[in-house]
Amino acid sequence: MMVLTPPAWVRNLALAMLAALVFPTVSFAQQLGLPAECTPGKDCFVQNFVDMDAGSGVSDPFCGTASYDGHDGLDLRVRSMADAERGVAVIAAADGTVEGLRDGVPDRLVATEADQAAVADMECGNGVLLDHGNGMQTQYCHMRQSSVTVKKGDRVRRGDKLGEIGASGFATFPHVHLTVRRQGKPVDPMTGRSLADGCLKDGTQAATLFEPDIAKESSKGGPTLLGLGLAGQPVDYDALVVSGAPPAANAASANLVGWGWFINLRKGDRIYISVVGPDGDIFAENMSPPLDRSKASYSTFAGKRGKPRPGNYELTIEVLENMQPVLQQKQDFTVE
Ligand SMILES: [Zn+2]
Repeated sequence: MMVLTPPAWVRNLALAMLAALVFPTVSFAQQLGLPAECTPGKDCFVQNFVDMDAGSGVSDPFCGTASYDGHDGLDLRVRSMADAERGVAVIAAADGTVEGLRDGVPDRLVATEADQAAVADMECGNGVLLDHGNGMQTQYCHMRQSSVTVKKGDRVRRGDKLGEIGASGFATFPHVHLTVRRQGKPVDPMTGRSLADGCLKDGTQAATLFEPDIAKESSKGGPTLLGLGLAGQPVDYDALVVSGAPPAANAASANLVGWGWFINLRKGDRIYISVVGPDGDIFAENMSPPLDRSKASYSTFAGKRGKPRPGNYELTIEVLENMQPVLQQKQDFTVE
């Protein structure tokens, strides 16, 4: 009996087909960097991941709630419009070519249905689309008006500035939205998975498209503290998003209020705030009831009316799940 050995090209083709089965996805030539010049957890935060739930439900890539229905990208936010106005660069996540762009859309936080209607056909606001070859594209949205610094056909390197973080288009907080597409379809850059693939409870990022350090730092997804402090009056959430932290309390303030500002709280979370006064006694404290639903962003406070006694105060903020703290921060403040 004769054994036929297939020609080399047939074997190579077979190997290539086998490789395609084992590694079914084309990918970037390089690992993705962050789409903005900032440090996650310090001056920027992942507010939303992609929605991995193909139906009407919501699931972030780690089976949490840090997303919303139909969201196809990663929202990397700064705290406030005041931070955005200081200028935070949006940068290319990988080498590529500018395929398209838009600028000229005003920065305006969407608060009402009328605001939303005003950006109906330009949800992305000011944006840039990069082509990376291999069927891979990245798109950057909500950039600050007149900040786009590239033009169509420009070659960019990873880290090159494209514009600045803003709130143009459909934005309720200042951020850059990054959509990553593979062969025209959005994929989750955190896990490298298609949006229809569903979430992974163990949070594995073995196939992340990001540099491993970035994936690790940006993928926490749970309750995060954006700020805390002692103010002279109750804090207003809308004012936090516009102006950032309120002025610190002083001895002439009409009240003394300990406040905390959070993102990605979960249904059932409780928030504990305590302020210990200069004499070591509890000046004000509050334990919230369990949240009735998850809160993308949230602020709360506890305090007392009347001019505060000057001295050192200790503020404690905790987020509790099943009465166990999952986030805790203590900070001393001097009122003078
Ligand atoms: Zn988004």
